[in-house]
Amino acid sequence: MSARAMKRLAVLGHPVAHSRSPAMQNAALRELTEKGQLAGEWTYGRLDLTPEEFEPRVRTMPAEDYVGANVTIPHKEAALALADEPSRAALVIGAANTLSFEGGEVRADNTDAPGLLAALRTLPASPAGVRALVLGAGGAARAAIWALTQGGAVVDVWNRTLARADNVYEELSGYIELGGAPTESPRHEDYGIVVNTTSVGLHGENPFEHLPLKRDGFAGQVVVDMVYGDRPTGLLEVAEAAGATTVDGIEVLVQQGALSLEIWTGRKPPLDTMRAAARA
Ligand code: NAP
Repeated sequence: MSARAMKRLAVLGHPVAHSRSPAMQNAALRELTEKGQLAGEWTYGRLDLTPEEFEPRVRTMPAEDYVGANVTIPHKEAALALADEPSRAALVIGAANTLSFEGGEVRADNTDAPGLLAALRTLPASPAGVRALVLGAGGAARAAIWALTQGGAVVDVWNRTLARADNVYEELSGYIELGGAPTESPRHEDYGIVVNTTSVGLHGENPFEHLPLKRDGFAGQVVVDMVYGDRPTGLLEVAEAAGATTVDGIEVLVQQGALSLEIWTGRKPPLDTMRAAARA
């Protein structure tokens, strides 16, 4: 392959216009190229694909110079299903957010989970031995549960729809140790780490109306909100004002994106550049 060969990447979702990944990944690709760490012409775009379009389009991508893709809502389960080589984490979590095309095969990884752990590693606190509460039972929750248990935390799960949390317990029970059953009325002040993986807050919803959280229940905990927008979520604002250490969804996005970039390029991602572009 010539040094100028095109190497394309993209985020696949529906909708995907709002995604910060192209700005963040292109900033990183530019910097790595300027430093002489990448050969070829790397670009990162976005493809809005309906569920019907997803698999057929992915199948054509390797022939169009794509070396990989990030996958977001609603395609993470479909991305795992079409992979020839899924990673263990993606299999356990039941979802993939990173595809790599090599030698005619599709590899699927989940960098949401190690991305959350990497975001926690930016703090002085470690999840090892800590009681953690995960709010939610969707794909982001499964990644968070996997990540936190891998990091040595003892995890409890709460979800609005209890049956969905029961399913998560059942599906993950062969792989990781969770408490006996989902918790129905957690006292979040009893946990060292609280992770909101629900979509509450995405459209400005009040977390204290929808989630089992009290405004005055925060103190020295670590509070992570996977939801992100242009300003801190209501949850993080209250938690931080009460003295909690907070991690926002953009930091998790940056960390998962950096791990994806490392998979595709084999290079150490420029995290500060990615952070600045994701927050611009
Ligand atoms: P999902 O599978 O659709 O799950 C949504 C979750 O939110 C479910 O547990 C659902 O509960 C809960 N929920 C929705 N509305 C609620 C309400 N009014 N009150 C209480 N619970 C409510 O979505 P997902 O893929 O897990 O993603 C969840 C969020 O994480 C999204 O906002 C997504 O953007 C974000 N995310 C961020 C990153 C990042 O890098 N920062 C990565 C992945 C995901 P029910 O089961 O009761 O419906």
